[in-house]
Amino acid sequence: MSTNRVATDRPFAMPAHRPVQISLPSTGEEEWQAVRAPLMNGWLTQGPKVAEFERKFANRHEVKHALAVTSCTTGLHLALAALGIGPGDEVIVPAFTWVATANVVVYCGATPVLADVDPVTNNICPRDLAKRVTSRTKAVIPVHLFGLCANMDAIRHAVPGHVHIVEDCACAAGASYSGRPAGGLGTCGVFSFHPRKSITTGEGGMLTTNNDRVAEIANSLRNHGASVSEEHRHRGPTPYLLPEFNLLGFNYRMTDLQGAVGLVQLAKLDRFIAERDKWARWYMKELSDIPWLRMPQRPNDGGHAWQAFVTFVDPEKAPTTRNQIMELLQSAGVATRPGTHAVHMLGYYAKRNGHKPTDFPGAMACDLNTMAIPLHNRMDEVDYRHVVACLKAIG
Ligand SMILES: *Cc1c(COP(=O)(O)O)cnc(C)c1O
Repeated sequence: MSTNRVATDRPFAMPAHRPVQISLPSTGEEEWQAVRAPLMNGWLTQGPKVAEFERKFANRHEVKHALAVTSCTTGLHLALAALGIGPGDEVIVPAFTWVATANVVVYCGATPVLADVDPVTNNICPRDLAKRVTSRTKAVIPVHLFGLCANMDAIRHAVPGHVHIVEDCACAAGASYSGRPAGGLGTCGVFSFHPRKSITTGEGGMLTTNNDRVAEIANSLRNHGASVSEEHRHRGPTPYLLPEFNLLGFNYRMTDLQGAVGLVQLAKLDRFIAERDKWARWYMKELSDIPWLRMPQRPNDGGHAWQAFVTFVDPEKAPTTRNQIMELLQSAGVATRPGTHAVHMLGYYAKRNGHKPTDFPGAMACDLNTMAIPLHNRMDEVDYRHVVACLKAIG
């Protein structure tokens, strides 16, 4: 035991230092072997591995189409572009989310309209969402933050039928809502394979949809807007024919090296989630007697994908501030992070929209009080016990 003093008048006796990282990707020998094939056969960009990854990802998430892209951010941009969203349109996004959810709306020349979140779930508040709808509203992007699905039934009821629902599934690979997998709950969904998410391809994303037309347009837009001509389709490839380019597209293609890694990771997804769920429930049991630390919500029927385990430090009850608690944990080796940030409190959006922090009280509370504690598939029991011991030493 060592006594750590932070800027508070109260000393805290913390357990001996043991490093526990907030998040670590689970990759290794199998992923290493998987990249051999594309490197050896020379098919490096989008090819057979990406096609297989898409097929298996679509199966696992029970959707008709899955299109691999370079990130969740580019996938969300692609989704909005495929829905024809542009200048004059409004897209409603939660005020507590990773900034990319709002940025993609600006990329389209449309206006991001923020809605507050419920600090109990960290997800968009359907009642506040309903108040933000105007005649210009074209879409809403509910975020399944940290792996917990947003309240999709209430969201569907909060907006008119013609408003598209684009799920930000960045944290929600393998998550489900009332038994239905994320990614097929709206017009489209977009996942992330950044190393901070449950499964990774380094960078990468996946657009999912059950809508054939959206899939067809998104498929073309991710590849420079190329479309195979009718002549090509009917007569088969002819050497002098290039595809037609009738749309302004992008290059958002995933490489086959990433597709190969994605296939290995996808096969581990359900094991990763089961293990995280086991330790999440253990955390909830072990930490239940700390009155100032609120646990995340876990639906009774499961479905939480546990991209992160995000607690809420009650400022009224905590022995010191959240930031000092984070420093104390760090002094004993335990890494923590705020859950994510309030978009309206970030410089760009605060200035763009003239927002005050109190404009979205739920998002502000989450910004100031959430604390993610370590939960990932490279922790062992001793790591988990250390995190709990450190939290109990504070409170
Ligand atoms: C990580 C994340 C993103 C961005 O994903 P990238 O693949 O890094 O572009 C978007 N939205 C949310 C909610 C995220 O957590």
